[in-house]
Amino acid sequence: MYIIVFILSIIVFAYAEPGKAPLVQLNDGRTMPTIALGTWLGNSTTGRITPVGYETEQAVLWAFEAGYRHIDTAWSYHVEDQVGRAVKTVVDAYNLLHEVTTTPKLWNDAHARSAVVPALRASLAQLKLNYVDLYLMHWPLGQFANGSYDYTHYLETWRGMMDAQALNLTRSIGVSNFNKVMLENVRAHQLTEPAVLQIEWNINLQQPGLLAYCRQHNISVMGYTPFGALMDKRRADSPTHIDDPQLTKMAAKYGKNVQQILLRYAVEMGVIPIPKSITSSRIFENIDIFDFQLEDNDKRILRKFDRGYRTIPQLKWRDHPFYPFEKKADYPTTSTSTVRTDASTQQVISKGDLNDKSAKMNFRDIKI
Ligand code: NDP
Repeated sequence: MYIIVFILSIIVFAYAEPGKAPLVQLNDGRTMPTIALGTWLGNSTTGRITPVGYETEQAVLWAFEAGYRHIDTAWSYHVEDQVGRAVKTVVDAYNLLHEVTTTPKLWNDAHARSAVVPALRASLAQLKLNYVDLYLMHWPLGQFANGSYDYTHYLETWRGMMDAQALNLTRSIGVSNFNKVMLENVRAHQLTEPAVLQIEWNINLQQPGLLAYCRQHNISVMGYTPFGALMDKRRADSPTHIDDPQLTKMAAKYGKNVQQILLRYAVEMGVIPIPKSITSSRIFENIDIFDFQLEDNDKRILRKFDRGYRTIPQLKWRDHPFYPFEKKADYPTTSTSTVRTDASTQQVISKGDLNDKSAKMNFRDIKI
């Protein structure tokens, strides 16, 4: 009996403690923790892994216990209900509402300006929250539920995000998978500057130019897939693997494992990493990175691992005009093109290649 009470009191103490990660100040004055738990269950060889009902809920509870106060999620991950149950449990029991940042993302099938607020309301219902702290546009490109393309301009969708913020349904708003041209376009139209840009970030893909732009404009960067393809045996083409001798040697020097070195490096580069795990021990070790600092020389070594290698290029969307990344030539495209015709569409653009200089100029010139 005493042992049970003792264990419970340790758990209660851990939940009630302030979060383990330092906070970063956003450009809208709010703060948020410098590490977040990811909740995308990922893909297996047969496609998207479907949640079975409680694994994410359990992971989020472990995360709170470990000291995370920031949970990244999305409509498209199909786990918002689980995240919501765990957040509610902890927030209600330990009065943590003002400490916890919940960050869901708008899916591509709700890109009409008028669709954004209803989509957020649907997420809020899943999350059992009245508002979220940060809402992100998941991708700059729209796609209808049947897979055909929606060409609603991302600035139009962004206006919908601003509407959601004006309604206090979200405290902060940001974008994900935008490139520099797209961020510049938001600026050029004098719309609200995104508080956050969420992008893939790991040692294979360090994107120094985009980071510098965000630093210059005070946009905080969240880094998804912080382990890149380093641990994925299906990705033999990854330029670096987790057992790389330079990485294992460096980890041993700090008394950490390689995953912790990768996460610490992200934090020191000003990137908020979003490690996903549903394994208790890993959830705890991934946040155990705030008790050491990398030496400059080690950061120089890690910098050299950058190969511009993208783990999640989403090449299936590469013929969408708002596909944000560099293109690869030999990949079949899947979507048929449909232009949204509903009244909320102010701007329809013709197909083009964002990587073409001329197309970049056209995007910037669009008046919305
Ligand atoms: P991660 O780089 O976080 O890798 C997740 C994998 O690493 C899982 O298989 C996990 O296994 C394993 N893992 C986690 N920690 C450790 C550890 N310490 N040691 C060994 N293995 C470990 O990849 P994700 O692609 O999931 O990205 C993270 C999050 O970023 C997502 O969950 C999502 O929230 C967000 N994201 C956003 C995107 C966007 O477009 N905005 C795109 C992709 C991701 P296990 O769970 O079994 O422990």
